[in-house]
Amino acid sequence: MSLGTFRVPTPVNEPVLSYAPGSAERVAIQAELERQAKTVEEIPVVIGGEHVYTGNTVDVTMPCDHGHVLAKLHLAGPSEIDRAVQAAEAARSDWSRLSQADRNAVLLKAADLLAGPWRATINAATMLGQAKTSHQAEIDSAAELCDFWRFNPHYADQIHAEQPPISPRPTWNRMEHRPLDGFVFSVTPFNFTSIALNLPTAPALMGNTGVWKPSTTGVLAAWHGMKLLEAAGLPAGVVNFVGGHGADVGDIVIKRPELAGLHFTGSTRTFQHLWREIGNNLDNYKAYPRIVGETGGKDFIVAHPSADIDALAVAVFRGAFEYQGQKCSAASRAYIPKSLWPTLKAKVTAFMGEAKMGDVRDFSNMFGAVIDGRAFKKHAEYQALARETAEVVAGGGNDDSTGWFIEPTLVRVDDPKHRLMQEEIFGPIMTIYVYDDAKWEETLELVDQTSPYGLTGAVWARDRGVIAKAAEKLRYAAGNFYINDKPTGAVVGQQPFGGSRASGTNDKAGSILNLTRWVSPRSIKENFNPPTSWGYPFLG
Ligand code: NAD
Repeated sequence: MSLGTFRVPTPVNEPVLSYAPGSAERVAIQAELERQAKTVEEIPVVIGGEHVYTGNTVDVTMPCDHGHVLAKLHLAGPSEIDRAVQAAEAARSDWSRLSQADRNAVLLKAADLLAGPWRATINAATMLGQAKTSHQAEIDSAAELCDFWRFNPHYADQIHAEQPPISPRPTWNRMEHRPLDGFVFSVTPFNFTSIALNLPTAPALMGNTGVWKPSTTGVLAAWHGMKLLEAAGLPAGVVNFVGGHGADVGDIVIKRPELAGLHFTGSTRTFQHLWREIGNNLDNYKAYPRIVGETGGKDFIVAHPSADIDALAVAVFRGAFEYQGQKCSAASRAYIPKSLWPTLKAKVTAFMGEAKMGDVRDFSNMFGAVIDGRAFKKHAEYQALARETAEVVAGGGNDDSTGWFIEPTLVRVDDPKHRLMQEEIFGPIMTIYVYDDAKWEETLELVDQTSPYGLTGAVWARDRGVIAKAAEKLRYAAGNFYINDKPTGAVVGQQPFGGSRASGTNDKAGSILNLTRWVSPRSIKENFNPPTSWGYPFLG
C-alpha cells in the first residue's frame, strides 16, 4: 500500500466544443453518427464483469426516426437481478478497502478517456438515442460527465480530510468515512447521459458497490458509458448494469436486506413509489437505506417591468425549448408584465419561426424529437388542452409519422392556476401568465404557491431592490435560483444542482453534499492514558 496524502489535480470544467462547420469535432462526430446508425448494438446485462445476453430483448430506437433500431437491450430476469445484487455484495470487500487515491484514479482516467477518444462515441449515442443536438449532447455527455468525474474525487478528498477539531490529551479523536454497510441501487432517467453515469459512480467513488438500472430509452449512451468505465479500470462487480423495465427490477432489488442506499433521478411519481416501497420493507433492512432522489419540476421565469426585454426573450426561448423542454430545469411557466408582453411575444414568436425542428443529424436543426411514443402522446394531449382552454400563441403542431416531433408551443392562460401552470409536462410547451404591472407582489406569491415543485426558477429585473425582495420571497420556490439568466444549464463546480419540495431531497449532485450521503462515518476515540481507578472526586 502506498503511503502519502495524495491530492487530485485541481479540477477545472471541461471546455465545451463548438461543432462549428469544419471543426475537428464536427468531422469526428459525423463519422461516428454514421457508424452507429449502421450498427445494431447488443446491450447485455453486466453482472460481476460478465456480459450476459438473456435473449429477452426490447428494441432501442431513434426518437427522430422511430422505425430505426439502434440496439437490442437484453432484459434482466429475476435470476440476473438476484445475481447482480450478489455480485455487488461480493465486490464490496476489495473495493471498499482500496485507497481513495486508487478509486479517484479510476474516475479521473474515465474523464480523460471521455474527453479524448470516447467523446465522439458517447456524444453520438446521446444524439441518436436521446435526440439531442450536437450542442446539447456535448454539454451533457461530454462536458458535464467529465466534470462529475473530476470534481467528485476532489470532494471525496475533502470528506476524508474532515476530522474532529479537538483531541484533549491524552486522547486522539478521528473520523473514518466508511462506505455504507450494503449496496447502493442507482436508478437513472433517460434525459441526461451525465446523470446516468454519475448516479452509480458517485457512491462507487466513496467505496460502495451497487446495481445500476438505466432507463430503457436512454440506454445506448449509458451502455457505452459502462464500457468506458470498464476501459478505465473499474473492477468487476463494483457497478452491475441491469437493463429492464422499472418495476421488474425495482421490486426485487428494493426488497434485498442489504440495500443501503437509493440514488435516484427521474419523475416524482416513481420516486415516491420507491420511497414507499422502502418504507414497506423497513423491518427487513440491515441498516436504514439512504434515500437520495432528484425529481420533477415546474420551473419558472418571473419578469419585473424593469427586465431587459432582449435578454429575457432569449432566456424564455432557450430555457423552455432547448432539448425539447426535456430538462428537469426547463422553464415551463412564465409571468410577464402587461407592459412587456407585446414585445416579448413578438420576439419569442419570431425566434420560434426561425429555429428548425428535425433529425438531429442535420446540424441546422435546433430541436429534435421527444423521447418516445408515450411522451409524444402526453405532450399532444397538453397541446389539445391548450387549444381547448387557453390561447396557443405560437406553434402547437405535432407529427409522429417518422419521429416523435412536438413543435415548440407557446401558450397564454388567463387563469394563473391553470393546469398548464401547475403540472410538469416535460416537453416543449411554455405557458405564460400576463400580470398587471402593479401586481408584482401578488405575482411573486403566485410563483411560490402555484406548483408543488421547487427545482429551478429565474427572476428578471434591473432594479436591485426588486431582485433582493424576489430572492427572499422565492426562497423555497427553487433549489437553483437564477437572477437575469435562464433557469437551465447548471455547471458542476459552479451551481450544484437540485431542488426541494416535490422536486427531491436536494442533495446537490456534483457536490460534496451528495457524496456525504454515500459514507457512514465512524468516530474513533483512542485513549493513551485511560483511568485505572473507578472513583470520582465528588464521592469524597
Ligand atoms: P421516470 O420516473 O419515468 O424513470 C426514471 C427511472 O426510473 C427509469 O430508469 C425507469 O425505468 C425507472 N423506474 C420506473 N419505475 C420504477 C420502479 N417501480 N422501480 C425501479 N425503477 C423504476 O423518469 P424519466 O421519464 O426517465 O425522466 C424524466 C423525469 O426525471 C422528469 O420528471 C424530470 O424532471 C426528472 N429529472 C430530474 C432531474 C433532477 O435533477 N431533478 C434530472 C433529470 C430528470
